[in-house]
Amino acid sequence: MFHKILIANRGEIAVRIIRACKEMGILTVAVYSEADRDAMHTRLADESICIGPASGSLSYLNIAAIMAAAELTDAEAIHPGYGFLAENASFAEIVTESGLNWIGPSPESMRIMGDKVAAKQKMAEASVPLVPGSDGAVADVEEAKIVSKKAGFPVIVKASAGGGGRGMKVVHSEASLPNAFSMCQTEAGTVFGDSTVFIEKFLEEPRHIEVQVLGDKHGNIIHLFERECSMQRNNQKVLEEAPSPFVDAQTRKKLCAAGVAAAKAVNYVGAGTIEFLMNPDKSFYFIEMNTRIQVEHPVSEWITGVDLVEWQIRVAFGEPLAFTQNEIKMKGHAIECRINAEHPFKFTPSPGTVELYHAPGGRSVRVDSFLYTGYVIPPYYDSMIAKIITHARDRPKCIRRMQRAMDELVVLGVTTNQELHQRLLANPGFQSADFNIHFLERWLNQMHL
Ligand code: ADP
Repeated sequence: MFHKILIANRGEIAVRIIRACKEMGILTVAVYSEADRDAMHTRLADESICIGPASGSLSYLNIAAIMAAAELTDAEAIHPGYGFLAENASFAEIVTESGLNWIGPSPESMRIMGDKVAAKQKMAEASVPLVPGSDGAVADVEEAKIVSKKAGFPVIVKASAGGGGRGMKVVHSEASLPNAFSMCQTEAGTVFGDSTVFIEKFLEEPRHIEVQVLGDKHGNIIHLFERECSMQRNNQKVLEEAPSPFVDAQTRKKLCAAGVAAAKAVNYVGAGTIEFLMNPDKSFYFIEMNTRIQVEHPVSEWITGVDLVEWQIRVAFGEPLAFTQNEIKMKGHAIECRINAEHPFKFTPSPGTVELYHAPGGRSVRVDSFLYTGYVIPPYYDSMIAKIITHARDRPKCIRRMQRAMDELVVLGVTTNQELHQRLLANPGFQSADFNIHFLERWLNQMHL
């Protein structure tokens, strides 16, 4: 096994990876920005190296500084976590060309899946269902009109290189198409450095359901069932669960098979996620693949018993998966709530000093966080400060367990979205699983806060 791993990230995911390494007997190197001197990951790792100023672009995105830190510490592998450089194929290439191991898929798989037009092309070849729309890139407004009329309005114009919920525009009529199309093209060019756009039918009431996959370097690819991530605001997930309360056994079989087919089409190695939108009639369509570990991975870990981060490391080292698809069984229900340092209804960020932190505990409650009493949450990064995950034999019990865990959580000194979760968990629409990707925003709009 690897002797030492460098973690090119911060926050809860860096802590999550350090914990996995410790359990595996692997030494860890943390990299940190000047704003993260007192951060949990900096303190927990065996060695820590400062890689630059607070701004992410000068530190956690600073490839030269990270590579220098790896060389200085004799790290054998780099784990990128999520965000920052995790989906940067060029970084993966630099890591492997420097003789280090990249804990993730090959740069080729990352390149294809990072380009939505190329990804859809590959998925079409693998017979994975796609949202109806353009056949590849759309060059100009004239072509956009023809494609949109054929698909039927509303449509969504998307940047091929887009990500993180950015670079998308919903268009409701032919009249507003030219403007929206040109804006999207220009924005794609300036924000993502690639003005390629394509068009999809805009599905009006879909659920966001994704399949967790895991592949090794010996050609084995399995799935770990699905997650439901429909609770979103601004295309950002707020609460996730596994399995999806909407997916029946027959649909699950088809959905997970499509996920495995998608991963096989790019010879996927490591942990990855195939995202689908599912219509009320349970038809589903590929939207994109995330070629990294995801924030919501703990819910899949809990219903299957597989430690995803441990297996990311094992397969990167070259170990074959120690289990077959048939051995992966789904047990009970798991929910994750993302705790953000922000106003629960106005969503304004709330960095600052944590005067008191008390994490929930007890049976079947997991907390992935980097908080401690006295910690100063810096204003430069993501507002997510903790993930609370609960497990139980069924969904109603899992919700009640999450409600009591949420009531136990104490974070003083900064404002968090704890109350949003408390209200959401008590909402009849959430409890009866009668929701889609618009549920949370519509509900927030009705609150008149
Ligand atoms: P990103 O890479 O920015 O995350 P995605 O393609 O994954 O972009 O889409 C993000 C979100 O946008 C989805 O979870 C869904 O809420 C919405 N969305 C994307 N495509 C469509 C579509 N064709 N119809 C309706 N909603 C969509």
